[in-house]
Amino acid sequence: MGLALAQARAAMAKGEVPVGAVVVCDGRVVAVGHNCPVGGHDPSAHAEMQALRAAAQALGNYRLPECELYVTLEPCVMCAGAIMHARIRRVVYGAADPKTGACGSVVDLFAEPRLNHHAEVVGGLMRDECVGVLQQFFSERRAAAKARRSPAASESGGAGAIPTPESPN
Ligand SMILES: [Zn+2]
Repeated sequence: MGLALAQARAAMAKGEVPVGAVVVCDGRVVAVGHNCPVGGHDPSAHAEMQALRAAAQALGNYRLPECELYVTLEPCVMCAGAIMHARIRRVVYGAADPKTGACGSVVDLFAEPRLNHHAEVVGGLMRDECVGVLQQFFSERRAAAKARRSPAASESGGAGAIPTPESPN
C-alpha cells in the first residue's frame, strides 16, 4: 500500500485526484498505476484500470487469477467490473468512497450472488494515509479556487468562511 500511495502522489503532482494502485502476483509487484483521466482525456483511466492493463500486458494474460490489487481508494463500479473480468483474487483498499464505492459504500458488487466472480475484499489498510492524501489534494484545490475568486478573501477566510459569489469574468 506504500507503493500505491506513492502512485497516488504521482497523480497529485499532475493535478489529478490522488489515487494509486499496485498489482501483486506471488508477492512480487507486477504493475503500478495512478489516476489520470483528466490529462489522458480518458474517463476510464482510473488507477486500478491503469494497473490492471499494465499487469495483463506484463503477464501476457487478460486474466489475473493469482494476483492481488492494492488501491488507495475503494474501487468504483467500472473498476470493480474490470477486477471481476480480470479474475483478481483479492482486493485491498485504503479509504472508503461514500460517493462511488462499489465494495460496500454505495453498492457491494463483490457480494452480488448473481455475478460470477467474487474477489476477496479487504478495506481500511493504511486508511489514514490514503484519506490524508485525498484531503490534502482537495483542500489545496479549494484554497486555489478561492484565491482565484477573491485574492483578499483567501487571507482572511478559513474553514467555514462564507463563500464569495463567482465574478462574471
Ligand atoms: Zn474506478
